[in-house]
Parts: sequence; structure tokens; C-alpha cells
Amino acid sequence: MNIHEYQAKALLRSYGAPVSDGRVVLRAEEAKTAAGEMDGPLWVVKAQIHAGGRGKGSFKEADAGEKGGVRLAKSVEEAAEEAKKMLGRTLVTHQTGPAGKTVNRIYIEDGSGIETELYLALLVDRGTSRISFVCSTEGGMDIEEVAASTPEKILSFAVDPVTGYQPYHGRRIAFALGLSGAQVKQCVKLMGQLYQCFVEKDMEMLEINPLIVTDSGDLKCLDAKMGFDGNAIYRHPDIAELRDETEEDPKELAASKYDLNYIALDGEIGCMVNGAGLAMATMDIIKLYGSEPANFLDVGGGATKEKVTEAFKIITSDPQVKGILVNIFGGIMRCDVIAEGVVAAVKEVGLQVPLVVRLEGTNVEKGKEIINSSGLNVIAAENLRDGAEKIVAAVKG
Ligand code: ADP
Ligand code: MG
Repeated sequence: MNIHEYQAKALLRSYGAPVSDGRVVLRAEEAKTAAGEMDGPLWVVKAQIHAGGRGKGSFKEADAGEKGGVRLAKSVEEAAEEAKKMLGRTLVTHQTGPAGKTVNRIYIEDGSGIETELYLALLVDRGTSRISFVCSTEGGMDIEEVAASTPEKILSFAVDPVTGYQPYHGRRIAFALGLSGAQVKQCVKLMGQLYQCFVEKDMEMLEINPLIVTDSGDLKCLDAKMGFDGNAIYRHPDIAELRDETEEDPKELAASKYDLNYIALDGEIGCMVNGAGLAMATMDIIKLYGSEPANFLDVGGGATKEKVTEAFKIITSDPQVKGILVNIFGGIMRCDVIAEGVVAAVKEVGLQVPLVVRLEGTNVEKGKEIINSSGLNVIAAENLRDGAEKIVAAVKG
């Protein structure tokens, strides 16, 4: 689960980390008062969406002005004016995709004088099974670009969970970032605060880009992105409260309401599978036969007819889906329950695309009979390979 920059900064502030003063604004009329609560002489007006690259992004609507999603203002009036131009408009960045995201919240922040922009992140490194600090002197810009063209400029430091964060981690990071004097001390303290926050709140990712050295020589977190482990959210009601459902994929949101393991992808073949391993194998084999999956979906072992119906509806609601592959190996899950769910869903929402069904395992005969007697236009498959071949052929043909 992700949160907005202003929420992440409030959390950082509560851990003592240096961030700028700022106010969040939901309606244009509030912008002037909010900006007026800060002294200036520089205000920064920042669109709040769950995507990076806002500064270099652009708006779809002409009346939003030429500038991106992070704008400098030299007066309270100008700050309010820029906030008004962005609210309700659609911001497109390299992370939003071409559809962009509607800006419903604006963060007005004290402007900082910047000496240098650095990159810093904490993440769970699956390779080492440890929390790692990742840092670079090349902050502010596209870190993916730095990783591609000059990977030697990105350094990473793993923390042993037995010792936890130690001051020497902070010193190493400080030297890697080219800091000196009092900044080293500040860095050691800040890295400790970030590590503590990361661990206590069960984060998956914390990115500060840029971490800056101000014109007075101090460290400051100028941007903040946080991702939390969805499976641990129940332990953090304060974090759960920060969820902004308008930022989430509507299909994934609907799936989460029915407790379905669904991830939207870019391909054209919708998949309904039971078991995460089989779902992965199904996506692989679709690729092997020359197409791309539109989603990952594991309906789980104990799915009911209602749950299957919902899952099928979510798949068909995706305009990118050109064909559907139902691949069930019934163990705990019964094939007849899946068949009933599919038939019920098609009766409700219709079927505009080819549907291939492969059923195997518990109650398979009953399941096949339900499908066969339903009158649905279903292509039956014998096994996983046959299913993949048939759905790819149906979509391509
Ligand atoms: P994004 O990464 O989504 O583009 P950032 O918050 O990193 O958004 O802002 C982009 C750039 O805008 C920063 O690299 C920095 O140069 C500038 N910026 C952001 N916040 C401030 C601020 N409070 N004061 C001065 N400059 C800022
Ligand atoms: Mg940034």
C-alpha cells in the first residue's frame, strides 16, 4: 500500500527527520490561506498523486498551464493560483501511464535553497533477505536512468538484522554521498530515524529523492515515497487510515473487497486460476505461446460461487482483455463451484471475447457438465498447454 508525499513527510516528521513545513489543500479556496501560513519567500506547489516524476510530468488539460506537477511560486497569490490550475486536472508522468492521474490534493510547501540533490532509499532486498540502504550522489533525476547508464554511481549497504542499524552504516552512507563535517553527524542521525520508521511501520520501500544539502549546509528530505507491506497493515491502523482508494486501480480495489489475489497487468489474456503457483505457470505459458497475460489472479482454495462470479466480472471489465483462460486444477477448490461461478457471471455481464476453460481434479465431470449444459460458447481444453495454445490462437485469429 502506498501513501501520498505529504502523509509520508508527516510520518518522517514524527520520527524527527528534517522535512519542510507544508499544508495539504483539497479545494482551491483553501490554497491562499494555506500558503499564507508560511513565510516565503519561496513556495513550492506539489500535486499529490501516487506516482513519481511529477516535476517532469505534464497536464492533459490546456488550462492547467505548461508547467509540470511541481511548481515554484514567489508569492502567496501565485502559489494559490498554481494550486488552482492543478486541482482536478490530469497529470501524466512516466509512472502514471498515458491515462495519467487526477490531482485531488495539493501540497504547498516551504521552498528550500538547494546546494546538491542526492538519492536515498531503503528497501527489502530479496537477494540478501536484508533491509538495504541504496544511495547515490545523482539525486533528483530519474534513478532508473542512472542505474542503466552509470550503475557504479549507485551504492547499497545491507543491515544485518541481528545488529540492526549502527552508526557506522550512517557514516559509510555519508562518505558515499560525499558529505563532510557536521553533515556526517546529521546523516548518521537521519539514517537511524529512517531505519527505525521503516522497521516499525513494516515498510517495503522508502525513497527520498531528492535528499538535499540546503544552501545553509543541512540535510533535508525534499521528497518522500513510502510503500507498506499490505499483509502487515492490520498491525498499523494509523497507516491503514492513510489509504487513498482513488489512487488505486479500480479492478484491484474491487478484488481486494472480495479478498481475491488480483494484480492488473498490461496484456490481452485474462486469467482465472486457483493457486498462486499455477497462476504463475499460466502466465508463463501464455507468454510462451506468444501472447501476454492481462492479470494475475488466484481465486484461492476456498472460493465460493459468488467470489468466482466477482472475479470473472473484474476480468471482463478490463477493456484490454481480448480472451479469457480459466485454468483450474481442483484440489480443495471444486471444479463445479468454478463452473457455476463462470456461468453465473456470463449470464450477468455477457461474454464478448473467446473463453477457454480447462478443468481438472475434484468434481471435474460435474464442472464440465455445468459448462456444457449452460449453452455458453466455451472452448474446452484438455490440459494447460492445450488451453494456452487455444486461447492464444482464438485471440490472434
Ligand atoms: P517528483 O520526484 O515527483 O518529480 P519531487 O518532490 O522530487 O517530485 O520534486 C521535483 C523537484 O522539485 C526536486 O528534485 C527539487 O529540485 C524540486 N523541489 C521539490 N520540493 C521542493 C522544495 N520544497 N523546495 C525547493 N525545491 C523543491
Ligand atoms: Mg522526487
